[in-house]
Amino acid sequence: MNKVTLMFPGFRTKAFTMSFDDGIDTDIKMASIMKKYGVKGTFNLNSGLFSPEGTVKPEGRDAIPLTVSQAKELFSDPSFEIAAHGSCHHALGHIGGADALFDILNDRITLEQTFGRLVRGFAYPFSSYNDDVKEMLRLSGFVWARGDKRKTDFLLPREDEWYDWKGIHQMDGELPALVDRFVNEPNLYYHGQLLYVWAHTYEFEHDNSWDRIEGVFKKLSECGEIWYATNTEIYDYVKAFRGLVYYADMKRAYNPATVDVYLRCDDGQFMIPSGGEADI
Ligand SMILES: [Zn+2]
Repeated sequence: MNKVTLMFPGFRTKAFTMSFDDGIDTDIKMASIMKKYGVKGTFNLNSGLFSPEGTVKPEGRDAIPLTVSQAKELFSDPSFEIAAHGSCHHALGHIGGADALFDILNDRITLEQTFGRLVRGFAYPFSSYNDDVKEMLRLSGFVWARGDKRKTDFLLPREDEWYDWKGIHQMDGELPALVDRFVNEPNLYYHGQLLYVWAHTYEFEHDNSWDRIEGVFKKLSECGEIWYATNTEIYDYVKAFRGLVYYADMKRAYNPATVDVYLRCDDGQFMIPSGGEADI
């Protein structure tokens, strides 16, 4: 039987994504640095915590919540995905019940109505969650969620891990070595590799460490193998790969998804067009 492994769009072997929590004004600076390097990412917003229009940042504060108009300008760019983080940033695993469900669903409804964009992802405030919270997310139409659990192996989430998506925090001491390994190690045999970095952008302001994250982007840009995507673009692409329908002899595949799928089969590379078939 042929051995089929995932490649990312353009026959790339690696993908990079980021996410940022809390919807704060330093997200604007982050987005401008990301744009310079073609990096895409996801911003997890609390719809009940935006600053009133005209709010001025107090002297000495690293960051304050975005106003809705600032957020509308920032998220007019499709490189930056809007995801939810609970209306009021509750510790959902601790409050539970109707309060948790309301905070989840109300955030999705409000963000979608405010920004006119579909919201499908979630970051757990305080990384507080349990099986009930995961089920509330699923029933509320969310397809993935991230906490603060750490991951350093570049493996894509398994199907039972989408509501427990793991990444690495930008201040993690192992990040520089991980970025080096991600950029320099060839990925010849395995499914596409993913590096997922998350942060609160006030941390860069607080530590004056914007140069450090820009250094990560520079390093990544040296590698021509990387597909930059938002969290949900990664999700949709992996689901499309896993949704391919193979002929019984594994010599041809049908792609029912809305994105083209790239794969490696034995020693060859193949693209299965959206809605079409191809020999592999
Ligand atoms: Zn938060």
